[in-house]
Amino acid sequence: MEKFRYLPGVSTLELDVQACVGCGMCEIVCPHGVFLLENSKAKICDLDGCMECGACAKNCPTSAIRVTPGVGCANYIIQTWIKGKDAASCDSVECC
Ligand code: SF4
Ligand code: SF4
Repeated sequence: MEKFRYLPGVSTLELDVQACVGCGMCEIVCPHGVFLLENSKAKICDLDGCMECGACAKNCPTSAIRVTPGVGCANYIIQTWIKGKDAASCDSVECC
């Protein structure tokens, strides 16, 4: 989904392809089309499209997906407003 982009390279989304049984749930539930099923295995086809909502991980029957749902991107943007771009970091989540 081209209209909704995350910051490049900051998504925490991870896929354990070995654990994937190819049920296709991640492809169905992802609102941003991040996953594709290829040869009966899920594949992350658009990592930067992931907004870390957690729906894929929640619906994966084999826990093949890991993602830290939440505030990563929003926190980073707020930090750039408060501290400036050079001081902002995706690692220093202080809220929640
Ligand atoms: S939901 Fe999990 S098991 Fe199903 S295709 Fe996606 S990664 Fe594989
Ligand atoms: S966390 Fe949400 S946006 Fe990211 S891949 Fe999973 S379902 Fe898609």
